[in-house]
Amino acid sequence: MVNTQAYLSLSEQLKTKNTTLVAVSKLKSAADIQALYALGQRDFGENYVQELMEKEAELPKDIRWHFIGHLQSNKVKYIAPFVHLIHGVDSLKLLLEINKQGNKLGRVIDCLLQVHIATEDTKFGFDNTELFQFGAYYEANKSEMSHVRIRGMMGMASFSEDEGQVRKEFNALKQTFEVHKGSTFLFEESFDTLSMGMSGDYELAIAEGSNMVRIGSLLFGRRG
Ligand SMILES: *Cc1c(COP(=O)(O)O)cnc(C)c1O
Repeated sequence: MVNTQAYLSLSEQLKTKNTTLVAVSKLKSAADIQALYALGQRDFGENYVQELMEKEAELPKDIRWHFIGHLQSNKVKYIAPFVHLIHGVDSLKLLLEINKQGNKLGRVIDCLLQVHIATEDTKFGFDNTELFQFGAYYEANKSEMSHVRIRGMMGMASFSEDEGQVRKEFNALKQTFEVHKGSTFLFEESFDTLSMGMSGDYELAIAEGSNMVRIGSLLFGRRG
């Protein structure tokens, strides 16, 4: 069941802050997605390739599908034809595969680099050292990566009641984003997206500089 009230007030609130709302619909029905679509929502986030393919096939074509889960290189080909933004690029290998599939399709696929900011080591993403290594490779090989466009970064904070800790992690990601925007991606105007914040912490994320939030349970209720 969709929480219409929550959606309407959240989308109003985010509009005033120029923040994009990605409605995270993983494990939710196509009917639930239709309900938000009818209210004007177009950006939806999914975590699982198979589920996303099924939903894409049956739902309206003007939905912008965000892949926000952990993506395995061998599955890129299934979503490459239609995906709007891949949030979880956490290795050079994955980026090169996305580029390869984009090349085959004659598409430029938008991506975010996932950065590891949480204290838990279960979350995927580049650490700072890896980001600089990645940056060096990217700058040297950019001309061969014309079928991917790196739009920014994505991160997930610790699942913690400690607001100070969560804030600190979001702040660190914002700093990292700015550093690479001013160096690795200096001449790329399209490097403009910072995806951070979920149902439980999106207000902190926006306060720390997020301009794209990924929100599921607040809109669709708990999963499973
Ligand atoms: C599931 C998920 C979300 C949404 O989480 P909620 O707490 O339900 O808002 C956001 N981002 C990622 C990467 C997710 O996997």
